[in-house]
Amino acid sequence: MATANIINGKEIASDIEKVIKRKVYEIKSEKNIVPGLAVILVGEDPASMVYVKNKGKKCQESGMNSWEHRFPADVPENVILDKINSLNNDDSVDGILVQLPFPKSSKLSERKIINHINPNKDVDGLHISNFGKLVAGDDGLFPATPTGCLILLKKNIQNLEGLKALVVGRSNLVGKPIAHMLLKENCTVSIAHSKTTNIAEECIKSDIIIAAVGIPKFIKGTWLNSESVVIDVGINRIQDNTSSKPILVGDVNFEEAIKHVRAITPVPGGVGPMTIACLLLNTLKAAKIRRGIYETSIESF
Ligand code: NAD
Repeated sequence: MATANIINGKEIASDIEKVIKRKVYEIKSEKNIVPGLAVILVGEDPASMVYVKNKGKKCQESGMNSWEHRFPADVPENVILDKINSLNNDDSVDGILVQLPFPKSSKLSERKIINHINPNKDVDGLHISNFGKLVAGDDGLFPATPTGCLILLKKNIQNLEGLKALVVGRSNLVGKPIAHMLLKENCTVSIAHSKTTNIAEECIKSDIIIAAVGIPKFIKGTWLNSESVVIDVGINRIQDNTSSKPILVGDVNFEEAIKHVRAITPVPGGVGPMTIACLLLNTLKAAKIRRGIYETSIESF
């Protein structure tokens, strides 16, 4: 039985980061612009703290500015809204990212806070106006993880037109945006979710599967066909008997799937590294859009 091509997201992300570093250098030396990302973090969730730290580190490595604004879990909403006002008005800030989810104990409204960000600085692509642009097929700032998924797919499939794509999961962060991105690529898109019956049947007839469910090893090898390309977005921490520490697994049963499919992303080392690379890409894009000098598209990657 043939083994699948394993899509190396780490390598592709590293290539993108090198291009970004070069472009940041160019914009700095030619136009005296240093793109900058401000991140707002509420509470002390360890995973969120690691994500925020990594985002700052990667910004600095690429030559961008980065700022972290931390608030306690019980911060009043108006304090966050005031901070966003000042970042919206700060000319050195090109991208504003509010780390989600908020702590369970917080009473902050995600929607209200995200919609308070200037849409041209909304590098997470979650503002309702960017969401609308995505659905309408216009250009805008779109979420980093789905953008990363699309780049990985395009590295493996030259022409997505007419292919059957199944997106498993319908979150605003991953499932819905990637479904619209694939629609724009002229795929025939289906979305499966927690109320879908018989997902296995939907999977087996699909050329492309995007798994964004949040359930470890949810998609089984026998649900997949030999021509399918599988992008596994899931990041699940589980305890297994091969290690004393928790390990990371995706939403696809990788060991089974590699025996069945044409290509698949691993976890870790697949979509994860692409997310930060695409966030940097969005920050650079936001810096250019705001100054009317944007010309790059993800096609060049
Ligand atoms: P979410 O919890 O917001 O959404 C999960 C989706 O899965 C929901 O739409 C739900 O309808 C669907 N679902 C739940 N149970 C199901 C079932 N039994 N059958 C079919 N569908 C089902 O999660 P999310 O934010 O979209 O994230 C999904 C996964 O991707 C998580 O593991 C998350 O950690 C991971 N993630 C990874 C990155 C990255 O950078 N790689 C970024 C974001 C999210």
